Amino acid sequence: MSRYFSEAYRRLVPYVPGEQPKDMRYIKLNTNESPFPPFASVVEAAKEAAEHGELYSDPECLSIRRALAERYGVDTAEVLATNGSDEALNFAFMAYCSKDRPAAFPDVTYGFYPVFAELHGIPYREIPLKDDFSVDPGDYTGTDETLFLANPNAPTGIALPLSTIREIVASNPDRVVVVDEAYVDFGAESAVPLIREFDNLLVIGTFSKSRSLAGARLGFAFGNRELIRDLDTLRNSTNPYNVNRMTMAAGVASLAADEINRERCAVVAKNRDDCAAKLREMGFELTASKANFLFARHPAVSGEDLYLGLRKRGILVRHWNRGRIADWNRITVGTAEQMDALCAAVRGILDETNEKGGPREVL
Ligand SMILES: *Cc1c(COP(=O)(O)O)cnc(C)c1O
Repeated sequence: MSRYFSEAYRRLVPYVPGEQPKDMRYIKLNTNESPFPPFASVVEAAKEAAEHGELYSDPECLSIRRALAERYGVDTAEVLATNGSDEALNFAFMAYCSKDRPAAFPDVTYGFYPVFAELHGIPYREIPLKDDFSVDPGDYTGTDETLFLANPNAPTGIALPLSTIREIVASNPDRVVVVDEAYVDFGAESAVPLIREFDNLLVIGTFSKSRSLAGARLGFAFGNRELIRDLDTLRNSTNPYNVNRMTMAAGVASLAADEINRERCAVVAKNRDDCAAKLREMGFELTASKANFLFARHPAVSGEDLYLGLRKRGILVRHWNRGRIADWNRITVGTAEQMDALCAAVRGILDETNEKGGPREVL
C-alpha cells in the first residue's frame, strides 16, 4: 500500500474471486460458470459490434434494456443494464444504505455483500441462517435495514418461494429489499412479477451463470421506475458507458435465443440432481440446491482435504476456510462428463481415506 492511499480504504479487505487458472488443465467447477460456450449467433453479434468499436456504446443501453423488458414483461424504464450484476449490487449499496441506514444479509451468502458494505462505510448485520442453512423468514420481516437476499442463496443453493419474498418485501415498506437472482434460471421462482406491486423491491440478475456470458460482464436490475432512476443517477455519475458495445450486442442475441437456452439450464439442473443422488449414495450431506452448483460435505473427509484431493486430481471446486462452512465444498454443475469425472475423483479420495483408516467407515 502506498502512503498516498486514502484512509477510507486502507483497511479494506477485497473480495477474492475463485481461481481462474491460466493453463486450463483443470476441470473447472469453482466459479459457477456455464459449461457451454455462447451460441454462435451471440459470438457473431459481438464480432459485428466490434467493427464499430471506435464509437462509444449507447449510454442509455436501450437495445439491451428493451430486450430485457420484452423478455420479462416489464417497461424499459423499469430496467437498468450494468457491467455484471456486481455493479448493480454496488449501486444498490450506494443508493439505499448509509451510516444511519444499515444493510442486513445472511451470515452465509454471497461474499461480495460485506465487501460492498465496507467499501462504502455502511454498517451491516449478518443474520445467522438456521443450522440447515435455510432462511428463517421471520428474521427478515419488519427489520430496520436494507435487505440483501440471494435467491437461490449462494453457496447453499437453497431457494425461497415467491410467497416468502412477497411477505418480506411487504413487511419492510420503508426499506428497499434487494433480491439477487443470479441463479434463478436453474429452478427457483423469480420475483420480477412483484416489482409493480412493491416500490421497494429491486431484483438483480446476470448473464454470467445461466446465459454463458460470464466473460462479457452483463447484469441487470428490475424495479419500480423511481428505483431504476436512482441507480441510473449513480451509473451516470460513475461510468455512463458501463456496458460496452460487444457485450450489449451479445446480450440482445442471447435473449433472442432464450428459449433454447432454457433447455441448457434444464440440462444443468438434471446433471445437478443426478450428481447429488450419486454423492448422497457415497455418504455426502447436501443442501437442496436449486442453483447450478452443489454444496456438500462428507463425514469422513474434511472440506479442505476434499478440496485439495480434487485439485490434485485436476478438478477445481470452491472451498472457504471459514467457520460453519469450512467442512463444505461448493461444486459447480457442469456437463454430464464433468460430473462423472468429479464422482470418480471423489470415489478415489474416499477410498484413499478408508485405506488410511479414516475417521469413519464409509461406503
Ligand atoms: C456470481 C454472482 C453474482 C455476480 O455475477 P456477475 O458476474 O457480476 O453478474 C452476483 N450474485 C451472486 C449471488 C453470484 O453468485
